[in-house]
Amino acid sequence: MSERRCPVAPGATGRLCPMSSRPGSKLGPRGCTFSGFAQPGDLHAAFDIPMHINPVHHLRQRDRKAINDILYSSGPSMRQIKEMQNSTGTKSLDSLNASDQDLLAIALGAPARQVLLRAEEIGPQTGWRDGYLSTEYGFCPPDTTEAVGALRNSPGRVWSDLCERMPGCVARGRVRESIAALHLVQGTADIIPDKALWAALVALGMLCSIWRYEENNNGTEGINVPPRSPKLDNVDMSDDLGDEVRGIARSIGLPYVQICIRMGRSIPHLTFFDQSSYNITIRDPLSTYPYVGRFDNMDLRWPMFGDSAERAFLKGVAETDLSFQHGVDAIASCQEHVMMKNKQGLLEELIRLKEILERMPTAFNSISLNSRAGENYICPAEWVRWAKFSAPLSKRCPATSGLQFPPFLLMDAFLGRTNYSSFLGEEGTHLRAWLPSNLRAFIAAVENYYQIPAFVKASGDPRLIGVFDGVVEAYTGERGFMGAHRYKVFGLLEVAGKTGRTETNGNTGGTDMGTKDVMRPWEETHQAFSDAMKERLEPHRGKLDVQPQELRGTFAECRYKGKLLSRNFVDTDPSRSTAMVTLDIHDTGITFQPGDRLAMMPLNSWSECAKVAAALGLDDMLEDAATLDRQWMRFADHLGAISLSTKPQLRVIDILRRGHLAPLTSQLVMKLHNLLRASSNTILQVLATDEWPVRASLGDLLQAAIKDTSPRVWDQAFALDGNLAWLTDLISVEVPRTYSISTYSEELLPSTVDLTISRSDYQLSSTFAGNSKIMRHGVSSGFMNPLVGEEMDVLDDDDLLIGVSRPFAFQLPVDDTSPVTMFAGGSGIAPFRSFWQCRAGRSFGKMSLYLGVQSREKFCYEDELRQYVNEGFMEVHTAFSRDSRGLVYDPVQQDLVEREISPRYIDALIVEHGSAICDMVMSKQQGGLGGYLYVCGSVEVFDSVMSGIRRAIYNHVTSTMDSTDMILNTAFAERRFMLDIFMTPKSLPCNTPTISLSQLALHTGHRPNTRLWIGVHGKVYDVTDFCPMHPGGTDIIKSNAGVDCSKSFDLLAHTNNPEVASLLNKYFIGELRVKPTFSHLEDLSMLYDLWNSFLRVATETVVASHFEVGMIVGSPDVWFQGDLFNMGGVRRFYHYQSRLLQSGFSALFGAKLQELYLKISFILANSSPSTGSTRLPDVLGIIARAKGSNDAVAACNEISQIGQFTANSEAARFHEKGIRAYASKSVEFDMEFLEDIRTDACNGMDAFDSILDLEAQSETQRVAALSTFLMQILERMANRLAAFYAKLARYSVFQPEMEVHPARTRWNILRHKIRDGTFFILAAEIPMGSPPRYANNRAHEAVDFEHVIRDIQHVIDSSPRSNPRPRNLTLAEQHAARSEMKPSDTSAYEIQQSGTALKAMSTFIDNNKRAIRRLSRVPQALDLEQLMQVYSPIAEDRQQHGIQTPPHSRSSSRSPSRIAAMPTLVRRSTTSGSTYPVQMHMQLQGLQRRRNTATSEPGRHTPTPTTTSLTPAAAISGLLTKLNTRPKAPNAPGGLPTPPLSGDGAPDQARLMQMFAAAKTGIANGAPTPDASHSRTKSTTGSLRAFRLQASALTGGLNRRDGSIGS
Ligand SMILES: Cc1cc2nc3c(=O)[nH]c(=O)nc-3n(C[C@H](O)[C@H](O)[C@H](O)COP(=O)(O)OP(=O)(O)OC[C@H]3O[C@@H](n4cnc5c(N)ncnc54)[C@H](O)[C@@H]3O)c2cc1C
Repeated sequence: MSERRCPVAPGATGRLCPMSSRPGSKLGPRGCTFSGFAQPGDLHAAFDIPMHINPVHHLRQRDRKAINDILYSSGPSMRQIKEMQNSTGTKSLDSLNASDQDLLAIALGAPARQVLLRAEEIGPQTGWRDGYLSTEYGFCPPDTTEAVGALRNSPGRVWSDLCERMPGCVARGRVRESIAALHLVQGTADIIPDKALWAALVALGMLCSIWRYEENNNGTEGINVPPRSPKLDNVDMSDDLGDEVRGIARSIGLPYVQICIRMGRSIPHLTFFDQSSYNITIRDPLSTYPYVGRFDNMDLRWPMFGDSAERAFLKGVAETDLSFQHGVDAIASCQEHVMMKNKQGLLEELIRLKEILERMPTAFNSISLNSRAGENYICPAEWVRWAKFSAPLSKRCPATSGLQFPPFLLMDAFLGRTNYSSFLGEEGTHLRAWLPSNLRAFIAAVENYYQIPAFVKASGDPRLIGVFDGVVEAYTGERGFMGAHRYKVFGLLEVAGKTGRTETNGNTGGTDMGTKDVMRPWEETHQAFSDAMKERLEPHRGKLDVQPQELRGTFAECRYKGKLLSRNFVDTDPSRSTAMVTLDIHDTGITFQPGDRLAMMPLNSWSECAKVAAALGLDDMLEDAATLDRQWMRFADHLGAISLSTKPQLRVIDILRRGHLAPLTSQLVMKLHNLLRASSNTILQVLATDEWPVRASLGDLLQAAIKDTSPRVWDQAFALDGNLAWLTDLISVEVPRTYSISTYSEELLPSTVDLTISRSDYQLSSTFAGNSKIMRHGVSSGFMNPLVGEEMDVLDDDDLLIGVSRPFAFQLPVDDTSPVTMFAGGSGIAPFRSFWQCRAGRSFGKMSLYLGVQSREKFCYEDELRQYVNEGFMEVHTAFSRDSRGLVYDPVQQDLVEREISPRYIDALIVEHGSAICDMVMSKQQGGLGGYLYVCGSVEVFDSVMSGIRRAIYNHVTSTMDSTDMILNTAFAERRFMLDIFMTPKSLPCNTPTISLSQLALHTGHRPNTRLWIGVHGKVYDVTDFCPMHPGGTDIIKSNAGVDCSKSFDLLAHTNNPEVASLLNKYFIGELRVKPTFSHLEDLSMLYDLWNSFLRVATETVVASHFEVGMIVGSPDVWFQGDLFNMGGVRRFYHYQSRLLQSGFSALFGAKLQELYLKISFILANSSPSTGSTRLPDVLGIIARAKGSNDAVAACNEISQIGQFTANSEAARFHEKGIRAYASKSVEFDMEFLEDIRTDACNGMDAFDSILDLEAQSETQRVAALSTFLMQILERMANRLAAFYAKLARYSVFQPEMEVHPARTRWNILRHKIRDGTFFILAAEIPMGSPPRYANNRAHEAVDFEHVIRDIQHVIDSSPRSNPRPRNLTLAEQHAARSEMKPSDTSAYEIQQSGTALKAMSTFIDNNKRAIRRLSRVPQALDLEQLMQVYSPIAEDRQQHGIQTPPHSRSSSRSPSRIAAMPTLVRRSTTSGSTYPVQMHMQLQGLQRRRNTATSEPGRHTPTPTTTSLTPAAAISGLLTKLNTRPKAPNAPGGLPTPPLSGDGAPDQARLMQMFAAAKTGIANGAPTPDASHSRTKSTTGSLRAFRLQASALTGGLNRRDGSIGS
């Protein structure tokens, strides 16, 4: 690669390094990647070598010491030798000498370095065919243009040229034709030179993969009607060359095999890093800081599809890999130092390695799930497609997996990982065998010789141990690279999993890990990553018995010990409400960077400890050993581990000092309440509070409670004669607090760290303080920065447990020239001190600070800031909210000048400087500076800053507030706007509105101007405004819209993250309605869970479809490449629509719905009073018939036709407008339909809340009423499906009149019809279109329970999930299967949902065999014994003689009293006469009010009035009316347009009439007698329909009813 320069002082050749921390040194500062090669070719200058000495020779000799110096410098004493000789004999003294192996290695050099030197020597001559490996570039190619240039200058140019044409060929649908047309160029050495090998490998590998992909996606992979031969005619194939290239044109297959053999690949294959890291070109090879392979410094050389996701994903992946560039040299150096027993050298290299690793996660930021992230955005659907493309060519190839990344495998070896037994561990070892030889040799050298972990441990040097621990954490810790990677993957997979992805590249999430029932695919992958992380941590932390994410926010994050050195005033406030606290961290091995945070375990003040000890009588036992529970035991282990000693014995005083004493959480108070057997009034009073946690301490509570509790109870609860186990049960280990680090240090190992801590004050709860105002201080801030004069209360000589972490997104820009603006409120200035100390005087980018504080007295660090301002390093602007003695920045004087200014907040200051701030916010594309903006402080500060910036943009740039948000959101998406919100969580009031699951589900925010809610641990948050700021990307939050996402929150460690908690509180809008207590109503409880899960699926399906629909209709780029019609868009729509139609909306209308249908039918059949048949709506039949209807077939034909266009752009060009119009119309229908299903599901969910208000004579009635209602909703959904197909069938792609050239289009259609003769003829089986056997036999009529069971059994038997994928498939086989999966195949998410439901149905049928058999009237066909019992005379005979037969029912709902009650229910409903309309009106009003209140304005919620005297009929009618009246979706203003021929969204009038007639027949069949009770029990459907009629008659003002209504 060409010349390289120092980025700071480009012309610094031969001079001193301007950045060095060591005076007079020519080497850069710690972490500078230019050390040693800053001046190209000038080794003398770079390595400080005197001019008269040969530098190469010098370097070779520099570190060479005599072997004896290294090995025998510290020999044992004579006494030790004597002792050894006496105890183990003379021969044992042999061990005093080094082994031959050691001697040899020391004589030859450290193995890793030797591998490196050899690679560098041979590589350039051999085209690096052993793999890229060099000191300077690590695993990157030293010159990314070299191999490609060599290929271009050889006959192999045909391959690289074709690669360059590929996106165009894909867009035209002519990939295979183009490849087949290539003339054969052999890949032998005489034709393709060694230098071109890597480029040839990548080019040919990519071409083979795209061939395969196109073959599998030729327009017949989705819904397909006419048979088409995927084979091309007259093409010479490589079938004889092995599985990998079978069916691939010889023009690429043969050279690919030849090149692979030359590259040492026995089976032709590409790796993940070939596709990414070796498929890039570097824009500016000189721009190397911090490493050359950065996202912004590279282009994807040969994209195959040419879309943004492919580019962003592969470049992001390449950056992750290449960000380790300097790690290779660092590791080789570590080994050398270990070999030389050079601790200082090792320390320096470990610190360098740690910094490389700590920087690596930022590479993830280059891949974004935020659609505004420009070229960093990854569209999930495109990513899904790329994963299919990248699958290996055969089952025996190694998988294309990130696990094979050389940095991962190298770091595993370096850190001494030994356990590889997890799924990913096994795969990693398998993939390692397929790495290029140089890389394998290097990894083996690190793994097997001079192991660093053992040396560090044996050294006993706390600095080495500390730094090494930091390396472990940075690589595989929860907040390190692996932790961040895990979270990134979770988000990507969740979004992709819901939009059709089946597996990861590494295939986790696609295998049955035995936990299918509970984990969704991305959760499985998360678990697999956690298992691998635990294996990596095992050598250093032992076996972890918790998941890594559970360590977050706990003591486990504080792995170092520091001491409090001083507390200093930072302003002129005499009360020192904010202080600079300095900790002594020397010899800990801690290093940090600007923006890093310190976690610290606080200690309770002595007075708080004393209050507790006095009340519990522990004064004399403070030094006694405490009995530890599991949590405290882990804490003790942790203390032992970090002290490098045995586990310490914790005493009573330790529990009091380190346990959680304040504030009072509900768990703590409840524990006390139980311990005291509910006898304390004070505790009861506290429990009745409406705000948690209560602002008081355990000491306050105990002091008060002891006064009103009987001494006997007190003594029993807190028995002092036992083992005091109650103490640790009551007091849990405190959690650490986080503080932004306020210093920047250039020391190799900083010896101190500064924090800026403001004391948090709060008023003691009135329960304890009465009418007086008593101020208290936060545990940690009060300990670190106590009131002036009260230091003695916290005085301690104890070590403080501390840890350092790096936020995912709060760092200075890599580029020193980028301008930086900081906004701080109060102590929010803390992290910025490290920013300005680091940048001032070194970076060229402008730096400004906007600070809001109360008064001049509270202006922190004024002197220091003035100094920086005077030196011209930064601008400082201030706003004082309670002080008119203002300060103004004067750019001419470079000073802060006193001036009278009315008090103001930071937003006013921002508006004042609006123009400059707008320039910072706006991206370079928008004409701005593309600056970096940081906000730090409380949530209030954040609000104020944002409102100021919005106003500034509105004033200076935009005309509407909407476009203002767009500008801001772009800054967030580009990761130039970063937040550090450090509020402590606020107490939340308990009297907030209750939000039902259905209200939550309706707020998915996918339509413009609608709100997005999420549910987390029983609370609902409106996160619409936060979405654009989410560091993980907006799509991740959106994919959880409308559902309870607590599980994801836990897995992503958001739950115990104070930052997330404090931000969330800002968006809190109400409590999520809890599941009603269905005591003694197991059926209802079971149905509730089932329906809830269905609602969740319905909601997630709406959101996921919206993602895909957005990609289809949202961007014109999808449909056109330049001016030409793009087959990419056609294919995208074809895949999406095929998947929906082919699977028949499987997540909604598959096993999940069938399970509901089965269980509801069972309940209804069971509650029927007679053993006669229960007539049920034929829901499954309606669905099956809908799927097999003529309308469905017509719709499928249309989609099939679109599939054929994907491989025939010639024909497609005549139908451009038709295809686009069809696509946009169908996705519109899809969304409309899915939203309707969700609304139905919401109605069902609401019924569970209302049903308990129903006045019923028995629980059976209640259950039956609800089941009847739910059954009708299912029926309604099924009918919607039929209507959907009918709607779709009305549209056609072929609309010549709309095309640019109608006559040509018509002629083309005709020609096409004449030519193939298959147009519109169903020639191939359409899986979704063929109704099951049972469906054909029935018209629209009600069915027996027996039919239901038979149908369900059929579903279970024919389901592929009954024959699960064999688990003994090899990994390679599983990976290859990915490429064969059709894009229209069911997504992993749907498979998982269906699988769970099928299993549940199967279990249900097994568990209820007898009852089902009885209700079905027919005994199980295969059970001969049962058959005989029921039908044979012997059975009768047996019964007569008292021989046991199956009991009639095991179900409690069959009790005679319940059966007797049924007629009463129906009678009441029919005779309630005059009171009925009034009651119903009340209920409807109640329902409506409840929905309106909570949906529109949660803040103004009023409690729902309970209707106590409702009749069942009124309740059901209410439910039904609600079903009919629920607004479509509150967030869909105006709704979607309806098809031209059917304005009401139904199929058409005739069809509707048909359906209605069929339904009526069902009622008639089921309810033929005039006896109301009889008809009620015979046909639930009938009665429901009658109820609906009645309800609609009532709402329509018709009050006339006769006896038949309700029957
Ligand atoms: C990323 C980050 C960076 C930070 N940086 C700084 C910094 O540089 N300087 C600084 O001064 N502070 C900083 N903080 C805040 C700091 O971590 C502490 O939260 C703060 O010092 C208060 O802790 P404490 O122990 O003194 O208060 P606590 O004793 O924990 O309580 C203080 C107040 O919070 C309430 N409270 C406590 N826990 C809860 C809860 N679970 N739910 C509801 N209310 C609760 C209490 O009732 C009381 O009013 C930062 C926080 C974060 C998350």
